[in-house]
Amino acid sequence: MNSKPKTKNFRLRGAPKRRSGATAAKLIAALLDWFAAHARDLPWRRTRDPYAIWVSEIMLQQTQVKTVIPFWNRWMKELPTIEAAAKAPSARIHKLWEGLGYYTRVRNLQKAAQVIVAECRRRGDESQTKSKLETPHVVSYKFPETFDDVLALPGIGRYTAGAICSIAFNQPVPILDGNVIRVLTRIFGIAENPKEKKTNALLWKLAEELVSHAKKGRDSALRCPDAAARRPYHGSNYCSFLNQSMMELGALVCTPRNPQCQICPVKKLCLAFKENRTEELPNLGKREAATARRFIAFVAERNGRFLVRQRTTGVVNAHLWEFPNVEANGVNPSPREIFESEFGSGPKEFLPLVTVKHSITRYRITLEAFAVRLKKVPVKTDGVWKTPAQMHQLAFAAAHKKLASAAVKSILSGR
Ligand code: SF4
Repeated sequence: MNSKPKTKNFRLRGAPKRRSGATAAKLIAALLDWFAAHARDLPWRRTRDPYAIWVSEIMLQQTQVKTVIPFWNRWMKELPTIEAAAKAPSARIHKLWEGLGYYTRVRNLQKAAQVIVAECRRRGDESQTKSKLETPHVVSYKFPETFDDVLALPGIGRYTAGAICSIAFNQPVPILDGNVIRVLTRIFGIAENPKEKKTNALLWKLAEELVSHAKKGRDSALRCPDAAARRPYHGSNYCSFLNQSMMELGALVCTPRNPQCQICPVKKLCLAFKENRTEELPNLGKREAATARRFIAFVAERNGRFLVRQRTTGVVNAHLWEFPNVEANGVNPSPREIFESEFGSGPKEFLPLVTVKHSITRYRITLEAFAVRLKKVPVKTDGVWKTPAQMHQLAFAAAHKKLASAAVKSILSGR
């Protein structure tokens, strides 16, 4: 039988006093009820497997939910355990991540999986976790369960460690990502820039006080019986659901532009709404101006094979494959001049193939690709020759994947 919800008012110690009309109890109740009724049914929300949740959190960094879903499903099907992720060849993990970008994430994920496996073997405790969790992933190696141990893993920062510990283990640890920052700065009317140290510390403190208070217990099902019957997101996982509810509210209702305050579950507690300041908050300061960069790429074909090369360690998109390319800012040499300086000799014809525009961090990149057909191997060749079928097995940087598709189409059309 459910116990009566605790309703003791709790004033948030970290919140600016003047504006802190909200109490933690009311806020938490409203968020949990709303989450029970409106949470999206995402595949990683159907499990408490920390490995599965970890993979989702790493994929979701800088990437939208709808983009991540097929990548997560594929990854979990092909590498369902920590051990499988630790042992997978580098080419395979890059191929599974191909298109998600920010590839350091996947390399760190594998490094962390290897650390977990090595640590479990060192302690000789692999066997104790050979049980099935809610999902059919056989877990052979135990994911660390303390916040400090999770935080110590490669590629895991304070946010990700908090997300894993609260979502998988229901621990009262805070999370603070872009969505949560937006929700908290608006609810509490915090006008200072969240990137500033003091304000950032205040936001972490608020998030921590909320999740600590949630741990004391609040059964959202009591206030929302219909939702409880329909949805899996009710019950006593208060810390998990509270953290997820703030992220979800930021993603679905309290959006950067045109937040839907009229249907927001916390509008009565929200200072930004009361004072009509939703457009001003959060105060993110001035954005760094974007820098334009231009690259010329060559899709060189010889006897049905294409010249491609692998990017080296320590650069953006390290280990991924690409077509030979050169940055051409400011100066405006012809494709022929660039080709000859790179390869020593060149063909007569350079056919415009495709132009791809994309962004990496603050760079706005234009990649102009030219198709060249070669009769013999150029004097200087940096790369390997691959058939379309072989290229299909390689993980390409996103823009170069488009070049590969255009190259194959042009060959098929007999151009
Ligand atoms: Fe965001 Fe509006 Fe809700 Fe406030 S009332 S939390 S600004 S959606």
